[in-house]
Amino acid sequence: MAGVPDSVRSAPGYVPQRKISPTQRPFVPANFWAKVERRSTGDCWPWRGHIDKAGYGKWLGRSAHRWAYIDTHGDPGPFPLNLLCRNRACVNPAHLEVVTAKVNRDRRVLTPRTHCRHGHELTDDNVKIETTKAGHTLHRCWTCRREQLKKADANRWR
Ligand SMILES: [Zn+2]
Ligand SMILES: [Zn+2]
Repeated sequence: MAGVPDSVRSAPGYVPQRKISPTQRPFVPANFWAKVERRSTGDCWPWRGHIDKAGYGKWLGRSAHRWAYIDTHGDPGPFPLNLLCRNRACVNPAHLEVVTAKVNRDRRVLTPRTHCRHGHELTDDNVKIETTKAGHTLHRCWTCRREQLKKADANRWR
């Protein structure tokens, strides 16, 4: 067993877990992996058991990919897992990364939003990127800004 990565172990809020978390029904690795189509490391490993409405595999009341991670590395405790391949039915442990709070924050900055709150597409000429004093990156929408100004103008002459 490779163990939970150090970055997870040292993240604030990490609580060491037992090898397999207690559930009502015992987790039997052989039964779990029998429902996985194991391919090579680089490929996605589709879950052949129950898939929920959102498209995630489910097993014993948890996401199937979480069980795959737990059985391979250990329980990441309170942290969510990120499916690097974005394939929700994939349970390949090599495609899973524990999201500690810090990773989560970095990722938000790295993945800019594609649309504003009002659904305008944030193309290069419709976006104004600002950095706040706290260091957060903001993606402002020019269409919304123009509409706000138009409204303010209309109110002024009413
Ligand atoms: Zn995958
Ligand atoms: Zn907008």
